[in-house]
Amino acid sequence: RPVIQARHVDKIYANGTVALQDATLDVRQGEFISLLGPSGCGKSTLLRIMAGLGDVSAGCVKWWEQDYDVVGSKGRKLAFVFQNATLMPWARVRANVRLPLDLQKAAGEHAERRIDTALEMVGLSQFGGAYPRELSGGMQMRASIARALVTEPDLMLMDEPFGALDEMTRNKLNDDILRLWQANGWTIVFVTHSVYEAVYLSSRVVVMGARPGRIVEEIDIDEPFPRG
Ligand code: ADP
Ligand code: ADP
Repeated sequence: RPVIQARHVDKIYANGTVALQDATLDVRQGEFISLLGPSGCGKSTLLRIMAGLGDVSAGCVKWWEQDYDVVGSKGRKLAFVFQNATLMPWARVRANVRLPLDLQKAAGEHAERRIDTALEMVGLSQFGGAYPRELSGGMQMRASIARALVTEPDLMLMDEPFGALDEMTRNKLNDDILRLWQANGWTIVFVTHSVYEAVYLSSRVVVMGARPGRIVEEIDIDEPFPRG
């Protein structure tokens, strides 16, 4: 089942920067895809387009074989995780994680249970009452992952989520996200400029950048490291 089909996508920003050229990519159900490449090669642009954040200049993108505007009405959910945790500093962790449910107007017992589950998945059960500033960088990132997964998204898009963290914290979170992906059958697209991270995490690495804004190679990863 295709989750996303991007066909011959170009993206030219208003200032004339050509950020994507003829990008064609399929994301299938259950895949963990890494978009790998140097800074400025168009990874974030492609991810944002897959998130429905911004128009394409040419080409076409489908979500579950539909246009983006009907995705929500079909009950499909996308979640986006940014590089910085982007938590609301004035709100406790639990309220931060609740935000997408508030936006969906999901309330009551069911919502509370989902928040508990999300916090538990990322190992923050004890920290729902804390403010973001009371948490380490890694824990803040865990909280923003909890916020993403609280809606039980059909697709999770992550833009260098661990890029700002120290190496040990990052390695720990890599293992956690891998474990969650394996356990839950999520579909993930993950932007990174780390070859190690791409190969360690993904089922498929999409390499961008030898030519600006282009996908240059796709590599299927067949269990390169012992996992789980
Ligand atoms: P990456 O994520 O691989 O670092 P980006 O997708 O962020 O690459 O950027 C691709 C190119 O588009 C870069 O040259 C960048 O400077 C440019 N770019 C990104 N966003 C904008 C924007 N809003 N307006 C103009 N140029 C942009
Ligand atoms: P992480 O990889 O989650 O950032 P750290 O190395 O920062 O982990 O912290 C290790 C552990 O120490 C955390 O999992 C948590 O249990 C505890 N910890 C970190 N920061 C705090 C804090 N502000 N208050 C209480 N416990 C903390």
